[in-house]
Amino acid sequence: MIVETKVSETSLPGVFLDRLAKILGAAWSEIIEQSFYQPKSAAFRVNRLLAAPDDACRDLLAAGLSLTPLSWLPEGFVVPAVQRSDLTRHRLVETGQIYVHNPSSMLAAYLLAPQPGETVMDLAAAPGGKTLHLAALMGGTGFLSAVEPVRSRFYKLKDNLRRGGAAFVRTYQLDGRQVPAKTGPRFDRVLLDAPCSGEARFHVSDPESFRTWSPRKVRECRGKQLGLIQAGFASLKPGGRMLYGTCSFAPEENEAVVASLVREQPSCRLLELELPIENWQPGLTSWEGESFPESVGRCRRVLPNAVHDAMFLALIEKSRD
Ligand code: SAM
Repeated sequence: MIVETKVSETSLPGVFLDRLAKILGAAWSEIIEQSFYQPKSAAFRVNRLLAAPDDACRDLLAAGLSLTPLSWLPEGFVVPAVQRSDLTRHRLVETGQIYVHNPSSMLAAYLLAPQPGETVMDLAAAPGGKTLHLAALMGGTGFLSAVEPVRSRFYKLKDNLRRGGAAFVRTYQLDGRQVPAKTGPRFDRVLLDAPCSGEARFHVSDPESFRTWSPRKVRECRGKQLGLIQAGFASLKPGGRMLYGTCSFAPEENEAVVASLVREQPSCRLLELELPIENWQPGLTSWEGESFPESVGRCRRVLPNAVHDAMFLALIEKSRD
């Protein structure tokens, strides 16, 4: 009896694994399943608001860290899994000169590509890693707003922005679905890194990461995501772009959410996402009997490996006519 309890607490949910095989195909799902058992390397981004990559790397190398640069982001570096705690405890994390996050997370702001001087919003922002990346890409200029409704997370966001030298970011403790009624369609770019079931963060060494997962939770997340994606789109000016992302594999939280926006908003166009990495699959065009518009195949599902977390990404444009 005790053994049974232990197995169920430390094994990934069977329903989740069955769904994974349907989403990714049996061959891929077996490979991906391994990634829930392997230690993952750590990664960081030098915060160009406060530090030059060469200077930060010199300090980190002197501390004995091994750095592998990301081929597509000059300020992004990967560190071996065994050095994760040396990295996270390094002084440059505390001073905000580097930010520890996964390369898949760095893809979001990179693909949204905000320009200096633009009006940009992060609609689900805490703890703020991607807000800081947006701020750095904007060179600290323009108008950047960050929205987060959960009080404790809101203060964590403010703290991270202060530490990262991004005091120009305006922060709002607010449900993102209320934003368009307050702002109208004024943003050049919107990042919606949506609250989700967190499937990409599952790891067998951390049973807490999947303890509360259920198909019902996936459906509940979808409800909120449908409201948030409509709010993000309504906040865009004509010609503006929104990057929608989740760290879930679930088509209910990904393709189905994007498809509902495409169906309901005639001015919504999905752009073909060109990823600078090899490990991805195109968005599904059907799931469990529901067909999605062909254009949903332009979305991307980043497949997890020893370096990358899983991530779903969609780049949406509001047409001018
Ligand atoms: N982009 C963040 C980063 O890189 O640090 C992570 C964002 S996390 C995936 C999603 C966030 O959305 C959480 O902080 C959650 O509290 C917030 N959230 C939950 N409900 C929301 C809502 N109705 N409107 C806006 N944000 C919401």
